[in-house]
Amino acid sequence: MQELINRQRAFFNSNETKNIDFRIQALKKLKKILEEITKLMDEAIYADFKKSSFDNFTTELALIFHDLNEAIGKVKKWAKVKSVSTNLMNMPAKSYLIPEPLGVSLVIGAWNYPYQLSLAPAIAAIAAGNTVILKPSELPANTSRVLAKMINTNFDPAFFTVVEGGIKETTELLEQKFDKIFFTGSVPVGKIVYQAAAKHLTPVTLELGGKSPAFITESCNLAISTKRLVWSKFLNAGQTCIAPDYVLVHESVKNDFLQLVKKEIESSQFAFENDNYVQIISEKNMHRLAQMIPKEKVYLGGNYDVAKRYFEPTVLTDVSFEDKVMEEEIFGPILPVITYTKLDEAIALVKKGSKPLSCYVYTSDKEIRKKILHEISFGGWLCK
Ligand code: NAD
Repeated sequence: MQELINRQRAFFNSNETKNIDFRIQALKKLKKILEEITKLMDEAIYADFKKSSFDNFTTELALIFHDLNEAIGKVKKWAKVKSVSTNLMNMPAKSYLIPEPLGVSLVIGAWNYPYQLSLAPAIAAIAAGNTVILKPSELPANTSRVLAKMINTNFDPAFFTVVEGGIKETTELLEQKFDKIFFTGSVPVGKIVYQAAAKHLTPVTLELGGKSPAFITESCNLAISTKRLVWSKFLNAGQTCIAPDYVLVHESVKNDFLQLVKKEIESSQFAFENDNYVQIISEKNMHRLAQMIPKEKVYLGGNYDVAKRYFEPTVLTDVSFEDKVMEEEIFGPILPVITYTKLDEAIALVKKGSKPLSCYVYTSDKEIRKKILHEISFGGWLCK
């Protein structure tokens, strides 16, 4: 690891990555390779998750190509020196903002969108003129192998390379000094990464998870809201960081909402054992999900097959914040439904936990929308 990082640092210090044309050529090369190996990538992700090539395109590759095209088109502008006004203390000088790369970067990816979560930060790091060591998640072994082969046979390791592995390899990497670490994953591992980076005062970006609520209010278009909610919850079998974790539904629309959820799931691609329904990543996670379900609260689903790693889209009703399923991020196809009567009380319950990564507000009522935006801190969606 030390030798690899020394090589990357020497390459960075050669100033080659500061050349904008070098960056554009590297990004174009990556784009061309990805276009050539799309079929291989489809096969690998199907082997890891049973994810269809359509879903692989819409939830992974399309986003990567978007980032590549944007970076190729805009990196010259992003890297431009900008003239800014000078404050009194520095008068009569002239002042500039000069964008500069940080140096050797480490990207640690999560497994749930294994291509996109690894490549998007790597693309950004390359566009900004850094060298990159990419450590994809070890859990989807086939996609990790495809990424390693694709990058390690086409790029100079002194500039861009993949190190495969799990906890042991990541721990060894984290002992080294990097100039930037970009981590996507869970809160507990985020803390490990942050502590390791602190020893070297390395700047870190953490893309973590959490429990994201969805509000189904009395004033929403219930049919459209339910359709959208079911799609965003069960896409990738619920293994999405910004998926709605649980639903807060106003009691006046609860029964209609549950019926619509049932209808929507049964007619969707998420139906149990549909060939396009994504598997759970591991047996360990199958067991973790299974023990979250209170049997007496199952409204729909609740079945699973550990050997096949299939977990049926499951809806729980009459859930309270004291239930086990509300203790940690679900990260799977289980949707707890909690009824509320007063919006203030529902908001207070959300705020008892950590700030949600996202929040979905289904309402046509401007006052409700304003109130939730004002009182809860989140990045997210407002829908009618
Ligand atoms: P994870 O934290 O278990 O693993 C992430 C990475 O850290 C992997 O590459 C893994 O090899 C490495 N790792 C695991 N344990 C480690 C340890 N003890 N020491 C050093 N490295 C270690 O996360 P995951 O299970 O891959 O992903 C799921 C989590 O990621 C969920 O919480 C989800 O919400 C979150 N997530 C967030 C985003 C976002 O953009 N905010 C996107 C996707 C996933």
